[in-house]
Amino acid sequence: MSSIDHIEEWRKRKQEAKASHKKLLKRLSKAKDKPMNERAESLHQEAFSKIDCLDCANCCKSIPPLLNDTDARRIARHLGMKEARFKDEYVTIDEDGDMVMNASPCPFLGENNYCDIYEVRPKACREYPHTDDYQFAGLKHLHATNAQYCPAVFYILEEMQKGL
Ligand code: SF4
Ligand code: SF4
Repeated sequence: MSSIDHIEEWRKRKQEAKASHKKLLKRLSKAKDKPMNERAESLHQEAFSKIDCLDCANCCKSIPPLLNDTDARRIARHLGMKEARFKDEYVTIDEDGDMVMNASPCPFLGENNYCDIYEVRPKACREYPHTDDYQFAGLKHLHATNAQYCPAVFYILEEMQKGL
């Protein structure tokens, strides 16, 4: 199956899979963190060996990323802008009071789904979709929703279900 096929399957099946993903994560709430993170780590590698983010970019197209002041300073410096001007042009505060990019798709999503500020992108973009680096168990509450946005998270949850 090609990367595009995986993304296509995700589009077709994500809605119907929502309830079973929620059940899976509820069951996992009783599981031990260490083996869960180890399983997630290996499925994360597997998912991203099959799915190419450049065929997708759905996160960049549909979820405005969170920024912190360090991100804003770093990106502004990279763009040769004052931090205040960068914030005026690109940043807003969302309903939870968090600083986020002010447009969706992200204003830095470039041609062919490349990120125009990849080397200095926000920490939240580097960490998304929170399934590697031993993040999975601590962020269980996010994965069912993220599977609706990210074909790799969908793949990971589908494979985890098979193992139970
Ligand atoms: S939604 Fe997931 S698979 Fe798609 S670009 Fe983002 S991280 Fe990659
Ligand atoms: S900063 Fe780059 S990686 Fe982050 S959402 Fe925008 S385009 Fe995507």
